[in-house]
Amino acid sequence: MRKLLLLLLLAAPLLAAEDPAFWYGAVYFRKTNPPEKDWPRDHKTAADAGMNIMRHWFIWSAIEVAPGKYDWRDYDRMLDLEAQNGIRTVIAEMISSAPEWAYNAYPKARIETQDGRLATGAISGSSATGGQRMCLDNDEFRAKAGEFLKVLAARYKDHPAAYGYDVWNECNMEACYCPSTAQKFRAWLKKKYGTLEALGKVWHRYSFAEWENISPPRNAGPYPEWIDWAEFREDNAYEQLRWRREIIRSVDTKNHITAHGIAASLHSLPGVSANDWRAAAEVESYGFTWVVARHGNSPWQQFQAVDLVRSASRGKPFWHAEHQGGPLWMQPQVIGHPIEGGRKPDAKDIRVWNMTSFATGVSGLLYLRWRPLLDGPLFGAFGLWDLDGGPTPRSEMAARIAKWTNANPDVWRSKPVRGDIAIVFAPESERFNYAQQGNTNFYNQSASGAYMAFFDSNIQADYVHIDNISEYPVVYLPYPVSLSEATVGKLRRYVEQGGYLISEGTPGYFDEIGHAAEKQPGAGLDVVFGARESDVEFTPDLLEELKFHAGDRQVRGSIFRQMYQPTDGKAVATYDNGAVAAVEHAFGKGRTYLVGTFPGAAYFRKSDEGTREFFRAFLDWAKRPQQVVISDNTLKARLHKGPGGTYLWVVNPLRVEKSVTVTLSEGSWKTVRRLWGEGAATVANGTVKVRLDERDAALLLLQ
Ligand SMILES: [Zn+2]
Repeated sequence: MRKLLLLLLLAAPLLAAEDPAFWYGAVYFRKTNPPEKDWPRDHKTAADAGMNIMRHWFIWSAIEVAPGKYDWRDYDRMLDLEAQNGIRTVIAEMISSAPEWAYNAYPKARIETQDGRLATGAISGSSATGGQRMCLDNDEFRAKAGEFLKVLAARYKDHPAAYGYDVWNECNMEACYCPSTAQKFRAWLKKKYGTLEALGKVWHRYSFAEWENISPPRNAGPYPEWIDWAEFREDNAYEQLRWRREIIRSVDTKNHITAHGIAASLHSLPGVSANDWRAAAEVESYGFTWVVARHGNSPWQQFQAVDLVRSASRGKPFWHAEHQGGPLWMQPQVIGHPIEGGRKPDAKDIRVWNMTSFATGVSGLLYLRWRPLLDGPLFGAFGLWDLDGGPTPRSEMAARIAKWTNANPDVWRSKPVRGDIAIVFAPESERFNYAQQGNTNFYNQSASGAYMAFFDSNIQADYVHIDNISEYPVVYLPYPVSLSEATVGKLRRYVEQGGYLISEGTPGYFDEIGHAAEKQPGAGLDVVFGARESDVEFTPDLLEELKFHAGDRQVRGSIFRQMYQPTDGKAVATYDNGAVAAVEHAFGKGRTYLVGTFPGAAYFRKSDEGTREFFRAFLDWAKRPQQVVISDNTLKARLHKGPGGTYLWVVNPLRVEKSVTVTLSEGSWKTVRRLWGEGAATVANGTVKVRLDERDAALLLLQ
C-alpha cells in the first residue's frame, strides 16, 4: 500500500488536470495478453503516440481466483503504468465471465439455453481466458457478483488513472431459460396482466391453473406469448445494466460510467435484446463496436452504424469504442469477402474509418486491441501494433491522428447538425417480424435500405425513436407491419400537429401482439392516410421485381404489396397492374404519403436510380431544403455546428483522389480553413470546393 501511495504521488504531476478534448486509445490488457515483459514499453509507446485512454477487461474469473481471494496484481500494475504515462483507465467490468469455481458453488445459476442445455465453462476467444456467463436472475449468484463489483470499485475509485467503468461490453444478451429467469418472467406477466384469466385470454391459452404452469416459450411464433417473452427479456437485460450501474455508483460517486453496444438495434433487438436507445439511457456516455471486417467495407455501413448510435445516444457523448486496427483471419464473418473488405486493413483504411466516425460525431475512439492476442482463434487479429508490440504503418497513422485530435480541441465542441429527415424506430414491428419470420431481415432491410437511399443523395438521415418523432419535421416509417395503439396515437398526433409522415405498406396490419385488424390500414390509420386497402398480397417471393410508377419515375417495391382505394387522399402512384400504389393526404396540419410496398427493402437489395430519386424527392414534398448537397454522391459531406464553430467534413471512401463541390443551404461563408487533409479548399457564399486524397477526408472550418 505504501509503495502504491508513493507511486501515485510520483505519478500525480504527470496527469492532465481535466479530460482531454478527444479520447483516443485502445483496449490493452486481457489477462493472457500482451506479455508482461512489454507492459512498461507499450505504455510508453502509447503515451508517445498521443493516446490518452486504455480499457482493460477486469475479468472476474481471472481476479477472484477462489471465493473471496482476489488477485489484483496485474490490474494494479496497469493503472499504475497508466498514471505514470498520463493515460486514463476504463475499467471494463466482466462479471459476464464468472469464476471457474462459481459453476459448482452456484449450480442453480447455470445458463439454460433455448434447447435445454446447461452452459458449461469455456475459454473465451476474445480474451483467451476461462470463465462463463452465469445467470444474474439467480439472487444468490447476483449477490456474489455484486460483491465483486463493489470490491472492484472500492479498489480503484481513488486511483489517479481512473476514468471510470464500462458496465456492459457490447450490450446484448442471449436468452436464459433457467428456473430463476422463468420465475422472473412469471412475475413480469403477473404485473402486466394481473390475473391468469386475463393472461389466458390474451395468450389464447385458457387452462393455466396456477402461475407455475407458465414457462418461457422455446420457439418463436407470431403469438402474444413470444412477443411478451421478447419484451420481458429486454426489460430484464436493461434492469441488469441499471443494477450494475447503481451498485458501482453506491461505492464510487465520482468517476464516469459508460457502456457500449454493437449498433444492432435494427436487427438484433428481438434475438439478443440489443436496443441502443435503452442502453444509452442508462449510462452517462455510450458507444459501439464497429469492426469493418465483420460487416463489409461499403461506406454506407459504417456511416449508418455511427448515425444509429448517435441518434440513440440522444445528445450524450458516444465513442467508437471498438475500432478495428488490424487484420481478421479466417473467422466465419469474413469468408467470401474481398481482402479490401477489412480483412487486411492498411493505413489508409485506418484513416478513412477514423474520419468516417469523426464526421458522424463520435467524441472518442478506441481500438479493440492495442496489439493482437497470441492465443486462440483471434490470434493476430485487430491489433494496431504488431504481434511483438512493434509499430506498423497502421499504428503510425493512428498516432498521427491521435495527436491531431487533441491539437484541435475546438473541433469536438461542435456536433453534427440534426438530420434532414429521420427514419422511425418502432420496436414492435421488428419484434413481430422475428416472431412471424424467425428473423428480422424484412425489418432491417427496410430500415437500412431507406437509410441507404437517402445516403446515396448525401441526405443526412438520422434514426428517431417513436417517442421522439416530434423533434423532426419529416419522418420515414419503415416496415410498419405491427404497431401498438400507443405508436398509432403518436403518429396520428404527429401529423395532426404538422408533421410530414411517409409510411411504407401495411401500416398497423397487426397490433403489437400479432392480431390482424379487420379493416386496413389498421387501428384507424385509414383516416390518417386517407385511404383504405382494396387488395393485398403477402407474397415476398413473387415481389422481388415489383415496380410502381410515381409521376414519370419508376420505383422498386418488395416484400408485400398493398393496394388502395383513396378516401380523402389522392392517388399518386400506380403498380403495373393499374392498382393504386401510393396515396397522399392532408391530415390536421400535416401531410402523409403512404406507399403500399417496401421501397426501403427494395433499395437494400438492389440500388437503382429511380428509387434513389423517389427517396430524395421526399425533401421537396416536405418543403425542406437539403442542408448539404455534394457534386459527387460517392463522397459524403456532413455539417457540424456548435460552440467550437461551423465545420464541414467531407469524406472520400474511394480509392482515387477526387475534387468536389459542396453546396450548403445556409450561411454566407467568406473563408475556409483546412484542418485535415492535403490540397486546396475554397469557399464562396454557400459553395465549397475541395480536393481529397483517396480514402481520406477534409475538415474545413467555415467563417
Ligand atoms: Zn437464467
